[in-house]
Amino acid sequence: MSYPANVKFEGDYLKLNRKIGKVYCRSHRDFEGTIKTVTISKNSDGKYYASVTVDDGLEKPETSTEGAECTAACDSDFKSESVGGKAIGIDLGLTDFAVTSDGSKFDNPRHLAKHQQNLKRKQQKLSRKQKGSNTRDKARRLVAKVHSKISRCREDFLHKLSRKIVNEKQVIAVENLNVKGMVKNHKLAKAISDCGWGMFCTMVKYKAENEGKTYIEVDRFFPSSKTCHVCLNQVESLPLDIRNWTCEHCQTTHDRDINASINIRNEALRIISLGTSETANGGNVRRLGGKISCLLDATPNEIGSPNYIACN
Ligand SMILES: [Zn+2]
Repeated sequence: MSYPANVKFEGDYLKLNRKIGKVYCRSHRDFEGTIKTVTISKNSDGKYYASVTVDDGLEKPETSTEGAECTAACDSDFKSESVGGKAIGIDLGLTDFAVTSDGSKFDNPRHLAKHQQNLKRKQQKLSRKQKGSNTRDKARRLVAKVHSKISRCREDFLHKLSRKIVNEKQVIAVENLNVKGMVKNHKLAKAISDCGWGMFCTMVKYKAENEGKTYIEVDRFFPSSKTCHVCLNQVESLPLDIRNWTCEHCQTTHDRDINASINIRNEALRIISLGTSETANGGNVRRLGGKISCLLDATPNEIGSPNYIACN
């Protein structure tokens, strides 16, 4: 339900309209500006949420790639690891949620697995209740509460990680993943939906855009895993259980995911240096921001790697 502008906050209370009056609420943050709309929604666990749209009167900043452009344009520097300090490439996976071109690895928190037992117990209880009974309704709410807890934990994790990355970098590059296509693989669907790559990319994108930073998706057919980021030599095959490999051309030993994320970063810098970040990949960069289509060759296999299965 949406309420227009005559909604007011008075201390810990939200004043909706004359009929409803004041409602106690816990707010997550203070905000400045004029309230445009307030939307009240009810979760399946019976909790009410108010989301507030505010006009802060500020213009959306111009997107800039400052700090990344100059390094990318110089081709010899472009390949070295010391450049692109303001740019970051992110490789998303299931074992590690994210691996960055700086060499950081962020564990997949596996929210669902953590709450799995609790959820299972409550779902079993629910299934034993008689249809239409009050106790069934109560049990249903308890199940919904666990689901709601899981998604709030997930969102919290994704918000914090995306905020950290956007704060530190000017250009953020990810591989555009085909989450929908991958979720069709039933064995992995749960794990993939649980980790929330799509939500993560959306968060990075809007946080970056709000600060005039650049969010860029690299084409999913770009061979980020199989290319040596030092000499650009491409190996023909890189079995999925191989986490480290040595380039036979330049003898550099790579961590599979870090090498991939460096390639993602470099590819993004290359696109930017062409000055065609919007038209590179046939104009896909922007458009793919929200939408994710079709299957990519590297990641689904990655998911099916023994490494991944062992962790579950
Ligand atoms: Zn090499």
